Amino acid sequence: MEERNSREISLQRAHELKSRIEDFLTARDSIPRGLSEEETSKQDEKKKKILSLLNATEEDWNDWKWQLSNRISDVDLLAQIIKLDENEIKAVKRVHKKFRWAISPYYLSLIDDNNKYDPIKLMSVPTKVEIEKAVGSTDPMAEEFTNPAGSITRRYPDRLIINVTNECAMYCRHCQRRRNIGTLDQHTPREELQESIDYIRNTPEVRDVLITGGDAFTLSDATLDWLLGELHSIPHVDYIRLGTRTLVTMPQRITDDLLNILKKYSPIYINTHFNHPKEITKEAKEACDKLSNIGVPLGNQAVLLNGINNDKFVMRLMNQELLKCRVRPYYIFHAKKVLGTTHFKTSVNEGIEIMEYLRGYTSGMAIPTYIINAPKGKGKTPILPQYLISHGKDYVKIRTWEGEVIDYPSTPSKPMAEILK
Ligand code: SF4
Repeated sequence: MEERNSREISLQRAHELKSRIEDFLTARDSIPRGLSEEETSKQDEKKKKILSLLNATEEDWNDWKWQLSNRISDVDLLAQIIKLDENEIKAVKRVHKKFRWAISPYYLSLIDDNNKYDPIKLMSVPTKVEIEKAVGSTDPMAEEFTNPAGSITRRYPDRLIINVTNECAMYCRHCQRRRNIGTLDQHTPREELQESIDYIRNTPEVRDVLITGGDAFTLSDATLDWLLGELHSIPHVDYIRLGTRTLVTMPQRITDDLLNILKKYSPIYINTHFNHPKEITKEAKEACDKLSNIGVPLGNQAVLLNGINNDKFVMRLMNQELLKCRVRPYYIFHAKKVLGTTHFKTSVNEGIEIMEYLRGYTSGMAIPTYIINAPKGKGKTPILPQYLISHGKDYVKIRTWEGEVIDYPSTPSKPMAEILK
């Protein structure tokens, strides 16, 4: 038999590799993407409708304070903006008695009326299942028992959270911190924030502080400036992280004034929360770009949600779209059993399957860590498909992304002094 040359072998392998993602390439076209022309024009139409109903201008639309103070939380107004049937209207009214809801005009403009199961609608508009299947706990993480001072949550040795507000640009129907949201917008009082800062100042092992809530970016510029300044002045705090979903729900929040504040307190990291490629719009991308341009690294913490992103292709596409916006997929959280949100829960196997179809099929940068938050605040636990089959003193047996099982030598290292003598 004539020996094949290396080019022929490479071409055959290239063909084989393409065949591994052909199913994704076909499915990709049917997944709505916020950056597509089709979605952008639908968003523009809806935006015009909202502006006219609220008697507002383009300038208002681009003002985050207008977005925040004009969140829609009246079902009659909602029904004038999006298509809702009688049952859906009744459900919103019933849920409202138990759980808060509010949607920024911007996020509302992303809803597609022609899709009853539109992911944006499912994440923002209350449904009857929130109360009819109201199982679960308000505090599965037992955060109540991790509050050593002020508004701090401390679950790990060298880092902690300061909860600064319970306000958000939108009250997500899947919110895993619903307990914090309560019924009224409330920023943490200044004295409590001061108590949190004092605790950090007196706790030298804390080197990483996460400011979150609610949504950290619903705080005023002045409060953020003060808080970041205080934390930045503590010598043992290496960097500050901010948790915000405004990049997704109210990208207008990323103003020049805010950027000027953030610039003063580098290094600052921001983690946000995109769950679906439809949320990655032109406005969201612009907001991400502004932050990246001033040197703020961005990470995404998605939640694995039934009916939204529990699909290997949706998750792959979302992570690829995020990288276009310089947002690094960081975590996929397994949804907890939070009261009123359990219809979004998936099995762990679904999460493992999604991870299985990321590794190898797309860039390593597009692969976040899949996490189960262990109950009672016992911490983040990474979950991976099985790549290590077995291991011994001088070998490991591994499984490649394509399923091939290989023995790989693994001899113990010798001290450098012994090698170099
Ligand atoms: S923005 Fe975050 S904290 Fe606020 S409701 Fe949504 S998921 Fe919950």
